Amino acid sequence: MAIEFPKLPFAEDALEPYMSATTLAFHYGKHHKAYVDNLNKLIAGSPLDNLSLEEIIRETAGLPDKQAIFNNAAQAWNHNFFWQCIAPEGGKAPKGALLKKIEAAFGSYDEFCEAFLNAAVTQFGSGWAWLVEDNEGKLSIMKTSNADTPLAHGLKPLMTVDVWEHAYYLDYQNARADFVRNFITYLMKF
Ligand code: MN
Repeated sequence: MAIEFPKLPFAEDALEPYMSATTLAFHYGKHHKAYVDNLNKLIAGSPLDNLSLEEIIRETAGLPDKQAIFNNAAQAWNHNFFWQCIAPEGGKAPKGALLKKIEAAFGSYDEFCEAFLNAAVTQFGSGWAWLVEDNEGKLSIMKTSNADTPLAHGLKPLMTVDVWEHAYYLDYQNARADFVRNFITYLMKF
């Protein structure tokens, strides 16, 4: 039972000019696909082959001899989730209960956006910025390095932005803050 490489929920050119078709051809078609392909090679014929992606992440987190499996599984999940956090007509605040939780945690949606931007810009090296919910329903922002994922820390991701250089370098070169600001303003989908 191989882990699936899911379809993008939008056309590769639908996010222009904020995320180009060229970036998506590499980021989705090469980087994301490689994580899934590598994971399937690593788990083939092992007991992990019968588990879901989430179960593989939880089973391998923190185990030095399973680090390659964890890294590829976590990156596969993180990317699956990242594409679900994007829409061509994104950039709108959530409504209802989620907006109330954001206001309770950060003061306002705009203050949440500033804190999310700050986390993404200050993540040193490759990684991710996240909005997460703990098991008491409280929201917070976190950043993770490399493949690490809130799933491995018992937290539920509600939003993420990928700040590995492969996410923005073709479109923005070293201007990570411009990429994240455009992500928040035009693409982020709750
Ligand atoms: Mn990526």
